[in-house]
Amino acid sequence: MQPARYEKSISRTDAVRFIEAVGELLREVLREAQALRHTRTGNVITYSRKVFIPLTRLCRDRCAYCTFAREPKEPEPFGLTKAEVLAIARTGERAGCKEALFSLGDKPETRYPQYRQWLQRQGYASTIDYLRTMCELVVTETSLLPHTNAGVLSEREIEQLRPFNASMGMMLEQTSTRLLAPGQAHYRCPDKIPDVRLKALEAAGKIGIPFTTGILIGIGETPGERVDSLFAIYELNRRYGHIQEVIIQNFRAKAGTLFEAHPEPDLLEILRTAATARLIFGPEMNIQVPPNLSGDNYGSLLSAGINDWGGISPVTPDFINPESAWPQISALQAVTRQTGYHLRERLTVYPEYLRARRWIPDALRSRAEQWLDQSYLVNSEKEGR
Ligand code: SF4
Repeated sequence: MQPARYEKSISRTDAVRFIEAVGELLREVLREAQALRHTRTGNVITYSRKVFIPLTRLCRDRCAYCTFAREPKEPEPFGLTKAEVLAIARTGERAGCKEALFSLGDKPETRYPQYRQWLQRQGYASTIDYLRTMCELVVTETSLLPHTNAGVLSEREIEQLRPFNASMGMMLEQTSTRLLAPGQAHYRCPDKIPDVRLKALEAAGKIGIPFTTGILIGIGETPGERVDSLFAIYELNRRYGHIQEVIIQNFRAKAGTLFEAHPEPDLLEILRTAATARLIFGPEMNIQVPPNLSGDNYGSLLSAGINDWGGISPVTPDFINPESAWPQISALQAVTRQTGYHLRERLTVYPEYLRARRWIPDALRSRAEQWLDQSYLVNSEKEGR
């Protein structure tokens, strides 16, 4: 393998050229992306064994591609009960999961009075209060490490959740304000205003929690806007160092949504975007593309210099993309091996953030250490257990 030539971040001009590369330039971009990944992790590709907990599917936003968010349906409840959360978490625990991914809509109490009243009757002051209680429950009653994906959060809200979350996440998606206009992907979505999301990412940086973010591609952005979104993440990470992973997620059209006929990015577009992201972020960043959104072709995504497949659940579906089942972990292992790489299980927190002690509360850190080997990945004897 030739040493990577783009050791430092590339310019915006080059990034725009690379994200649309064809022919020899495309081959060069992919080669460089692979070389940078090799500098970082050799031939190791990681994933996190997780259980997915969809705490509430109510949301105040109306993204044109979403099937996760639902209208409140009577009779109650409007979210999972403690018993349901624990039952899901314990199923995951028995299946060897280490991560409990809490996923929920954005600030539903500001849109639905019946949900607000339901929260009050349960004794919760807000969705964040409800979420914090459930994260604490999982930490107290199981061996799992919670990772929360609750949309836009303030510094105060992140502080509230931090003692019971090893890491957190929120996709930036795109920084283009054009996508807020009528007919566009983020019309009537106050939490998709780019500045609001950038502020939330900054809040996570100020607090210093390992944070997962990324871009959603193919929702109406131009190649240049896509590059701008990647550079916005790059800049925040340059200032705070808290971005542990950048996800390149491709839009999938879902029946019954406003975007059901919207064209999906093809494999080439995903490859070019992921490889350009690798060239922007260099060897230091973890770059992930979900394997369940590219059909049977997902093995070829490794040619774009990615080093992670993200969270895979052996027990719960992908509630965000329910039409796209996660591959079996044994199949993921086989595909990764056939492509010349070695699949390893990681925790929700990446090794570099576990190694530097300041990023995670001590109690969660000790919990994580029971599974780790010297590389801060899951000890092979404890994988899937
Ligand atoms: S994608 Fe997220 S923010 Fe948008 S409507 Fe769905 S749950 Fe809400």
